[in-house]
Amino acid sequence: MSELSYKRTNVYEKADEQTMQAIFEYAKGYCKFIDAGKTEREACAYVVEAAKAKGYKPFEFGQKLKAGDKVYYNNRGKNLYLIKVGTEAVAKEGIRIIASHIDSPRIDLKQVPLYEADGIALAKTHYYGGIRKFQWAAIPLAMHGAVVKKNGEVVQINVGEEDTDPVFYISDLLPHLAAKQNAKPHGEGLGGEDLNIWLGNIPYTAATEEKDRTVKENLLRILHEKYGMEESDFLSAEISLVPAFKARDLGFDRGLIAAYGHDDRVCSYPAYTALLDSTDDKRTVMVVLADKEEIGSEGTTGMQCALFADLIDAIASSFGTCGAMVRAKSKCLSADVTAAYDPNFKEVAEPLNSTYLSCGAGITKFTGARGKSSSNDASAEFVGEIRKIFEENGVVWQTGELGKVDMGGGGTVAKYIANMNIDTVDIGVPVISMHSPYEVVSKADLYQEYLAFKAFIR
Ligand code: MN
Ligand code: MN
Repeated sequence: MSELSYKRTNVYEKADEQTMQAIFEYAKGYCKFIDAGKTEREACAYVVEAAKAKGYKPFEFGQKLKAGDKVYYNNRGKNLYLIKVGTEAVAKEGIRIIASHIDSPRIDLKQVPLYEADGIALAKTHYYGGIRKFQWAAIPLAMHGAVVKKNGEVVQINVGEEDTDPVFYISDLLPHLAAKQNAKPHGEGLGGEDLNIWLGNIPYTAATEEKDRTVKENLLRILHEKYGMEESDFLSAEISLVPAFKARDLGFDRGLIAAYGHDDRVCSYPAYTALLDSTDDKRTVMVVLADKEEIGSEGTTGMQCALFADLIDAIASSFGTCGAMVRAKSKCLSADVTAAYDPNFKEVAEPLNSTYLSCGAGITKFTGARGKSSSNDASAEFVGEIRKIFEENGVVWQTGELGKVDMGGGGTVAKYIANMNIDTVDIGVPVISMHSPYEVVSKADLYQEYLAFKAFIR
C-alpha cells in the first residue's frame, strides 16, 4: 500500500515493550476506579479524593481565581468540575474543556418499592437509561444509593460488592416453560414492570400478631436495624441496582477489560487523570464529569444545567473579561464512548466507518440519527486542528460512526457544549456490548484516550 492511502493503526501491533507496560499499568488504576465508582455519587466522591490529594481546593462562587489555582466544584455530589487555571489570558486562549459523564444505565427502585408476593419480598423498579431489559435478569445485582431519612440524615447504601455480601436478583423463566415468551419479539421478553428485585424469603416468625409474620415485615426489621430506616424513607431515596460484577481482564492475553459502566467511566478516568497528571502551567483546563447523560443531560446535575456557563463566567470575571469572550476561544473534547465493530454483529456496522478495538481513541465527527439529526457536527477545521495535535504527539486515533446509516443512532453531551459557541468534537473509547451489564473495552484504547487528553491540554 502506498503512503498516500489511509489505514488504521493497531496499537498492540506497533507497541514496544515499554508501551505495553504503560498500557497495562494504566489499566490497573482504571479498574480500581470503575469498581469503586459504580454510580455517579461514588465516582464523584472518588475523584474528589484524588483531586484533593493533588492539591485541588473547593471553589465557591464569588471567589477570585488566579493563575496556578487548582479548584473543584462538587455539584450535589453527582457532578464534578475540575479547574486548573493557567498563566495564558483566558480571553485570548479560552479554556480547554474535556467533558465526560459518570452516570450509567441501571435499575432504580421506585419511591414506593416494597411488596410481598407468594412468600417473596420484592421491590418495584424503574430502569434508568437505554437498557435491553432481558440482559438484566438472572445476574447478581448490587444495591447502591442514598436514603434521606425523615430527620434529614443521609444514609449511604452499598451492598453486594464484597464477596461476603448478599446480592439481589431479577428472575427469568426456565427454558422448559418459556415457549410463549420465546415466541415474542426479542425486546419484549421482559417488560418494564417485570424487572422486580428479589429482596428476601424468610418471614418474621417472632411477631406476636399473625398479620406481621411476613417476609416484608422481616425485611423492614432488617432495614431498620441496619440503616435505622422505615418504609416511608424510600419516598426520599435514590437506590440503584447495578451488576455486582468486578472489572476483569478479558481473554488469555489480557488485552481487553470487561466491566459494568465503561460508558462512560472509561473516558472519565483518562479525562481526570490527564488533568491531575498535567504539569503544564500555561493552559486553563476544565474537566467536567457530568450526570444524567443517559437520560438527556437534563436537570441540575446534567450538562444542560446553567452551572457550566456560570463557572466559565466566574473564571472570566476573575480576569476582568466576560464569559462570552472566553467561550468563543474555548475548545472542547466531548469524551464519550462509541460502538466498537463487533465481528459477531457485522450487519449493523459499515466497516469503513466503524471504530475497531485496539485501534486507538475514536473521533466521531457527528452523532445523531437518520440524516445526522440532533448532532453536533464538528467542523472540518476543528477536526483538523485536533488531528494535528494528536499526530504531533503520537496519539493513535481512528474515526467512526455509531453503526450503519439509518440503523439507529445516539447522542452525547457534545451538542449542549457546542450550542454555547464552543468548538466541540466527540472522542471516545470503542465499546462492545454498550449499555449491557458487562461491557468490553481495550486497554490500548483506554491508554490512547489518556494520551489524547494529555496532548489536548498541553
Ligand atoms: Mn455515554
Ligand atoms: Mn450511554
